[in-house]
Amino acid sequence: MSMVIRNGVVVTSLRVIERGYVLIRNGVIAEVGKEPFSGYAEEVIDAEGMLIVPGFIDTHTHGIGGLDFTANRDPESVLKMAKSYARHGITAFLASTVTAPLEVLEEACRAVREAIDMWRGEGAKILGVHLEGPYINPEMAGAQNKAWIRKPDLEEFKRLVESCRGVVKQVTIAPELPGADKLIEYARSRGIIVSAGHTNASYEEGLKAVKLGVTKANHLFNGMTRFHHREPGIALALLQSPNVYLEIIADFIHLHPAVVKMVIDYATPKRVVLVTDSIAATDMSDGIYELGGLKVIVEKGVCRLADTGVLAGSTLTMDEAFKNIASLGYSLQEAAIMTSLAPAKSLGIERLGDIEVGYSADIAILDKDFRVVKTIVSGEIVYEK
Ligand code: FE
Repeated sequence: MSMVIRNGVVVTSLRVIERGYVLIRNGVIAEVGKEPFSGYAEEVIDAEGMLIVPGFIDTHTHGIGGLDFTANRDPESVLKMAKSYARHGITAFLASTVTAPLEVLEEACRAVREAIDMWRGEGAKILGVHLEGPYINPEMAGAQNKAWIRKPDLEEFKRLVESCRGVVKQVTIAPELPGADKLIEYARSRGIIVSAGHTNASYEEGLKAVKLGVTKANHLFNGMTRFHHREPGIALALLQSPNVYLEIIADFIHLHPAVVKMVIDYATPKRVVLVTDSIAATDMSDGIYELGGLKVIVEKGVCRLADTGVLAGSTLTMDEAFKNIASLGYSLQEAAIMTSLAPAKSLGIERLGDIEVGYSADIAILDKDFRVVKTIVSGEIVYEK
């Protein structure tokens, strides 16, 4: 099976080709070049006037289209969500749970495991599960349900991880909690990415956590010790650690655009992972929703807990995140790095998140206003406007 996407502006992490083409063979990018394309392909897509960008990868999303991974624990729902994501140019994602009872988390992992086994090109690829909690700091719960927060327990965590055949790819932990270091070490030994989040760790504790194996910041600055010039807290430790990837919720609600800019300019796009932290209310109308058993009110797309008014995820989508970042003056290349390549690298996945020979043919075709026109996963069209 071969396909060529022609006449578009090809955006990769290294270059922009004004009139370019991308040749795909058997789900893999076989050739990237400047027109005219002189080879042969069974299927031809004309992308005149369009952008051809690496498919977006969202490593922190809880739900979309009225469904979420913690509440809708069946493979059919997961596959439905995979389809909804594809409408936004997402070609791969991690299914993020919220803090919930252990058996609920186990069921959620099992549902994602089954969905991965059943997946036959229905929308975006499912990379695995991101457990956000339950081993987080109750003082920094944010919109996580305090009733289900747990103290780090290695045996329990092992059982949870092992119950669903390697589906857990990332876990968010508060590293300052007693016993968290053992969880971090175990997670690393199993190749699970450890993200520090919902934490009130100090700067020093943050540095120690990075030494232990934390390689990611769970939505940097949100749900974290506040930065103070005499007490910088874990956020600065993560920012200053060159091996740590930094999640940013780029809705300009969770972080002031100037802070987003500060992070990107300091850490460079290579370390910045744009995420949505989206919840079930995404692609839905304003109203009342639920997250981890807590009531969420969505007004003008902004999600807040009904009782405390704390921000509770977002209704952001990755195509909007791409547009938002571009609006700050970053180049298309830089935006693509933060929406695709850095997310893939943050999970340690090779040959994903770029338009280069040998990479998985996961591509979003956007119009000039960054609206998604087509989404291609492993060389197959999974969404068409
Ligand atoms: Fe989250």
